[in-house]
Amino acid sequence: MIPAKSAYELKAMREAGVLLARIVDKIRGKIKTGISTEEIDKIAEELILREGALPAFKGYRGFPASVCASLNEEVVHGIPSGRCLKDGDLLKLDIGISLNGFFSDYAFTFAIGNISGRARRLIEATKKALELGIREAKVNNRLFDISWAIQSYVESQGFSVVRDFVGHGIGRDMHEPPEVPNFGQPHSGPLLREGMVLAIEPMVNAGSWQVRISENGWTALAKDGLESAHFEHTVAITAAGPEILTKV
Ligand code: MG
Repeated sequence: MIPAKSAYELKAMREAGVLLARIVDKIRGKIKTGISTEEIDKIAEELILREGALPAFKGYRGFPASVCASLNEEVVHGIPSGRCLKDGDLLKLDIGISLNGFFSDYAFTFAIGNISGRARRLIEATKKALELGIREAKVNNRLFDISWAIQSYVESQGFSVVRDFVGHGIGRDMHEPPEVPNFGQPHSGPLLREGMVLAIEPMVNAGSWQVRISENGWTALAKDGLESAHFEHTVAITAAGPEILTKV
């Protein structure tokens, strides 16, 4: 059963989404060559707490930080460290917060300095795939219409969607039903109804979709060592169409 949110709940989720988008905008300006991912995590955590929200990832199943910071071939769940950003890096930041008991979840990929042509195309393809997926998040569509929109576009660009990690429902919990895979058959899956809120998050690899987990037990890496990109929005399904909540 996929929970549908009441008008009250949607209002609260909108607030959590707008706040997260504002926080990310503030972080954006700090991301440059020479800063460590640990410093970015510290900045994010301070901003989140200052706004009266809570970092949703910190302590989640023992995750040690407020943001996931994944570099280059790291796909998701990178643990912030003293490693400094350098020219040519691809940084994926994934941030979740809770505000007044409601969660929002947002991820984006940054190009640090001059990145390769392939990395640039990968970022553009992933961003576009998210946009196309969101467009399918509408009443009376099926869940895997979203998945198919993402997968078919990504594959048409010569890249592959990660299978081991998926998007999810979101609300009073960070992870609610349903799972939102980035691959699937069109016109299948549960019917989408007004009031559902989904975190849609294509993770796209430049090479093969296969991943492995690092020795730290958290970080997923592309098995072939090629770069990966990730974008995510928290999206409400409304009578008027998809509404991106993680937007200023
Ligand atoms: Mg998520």
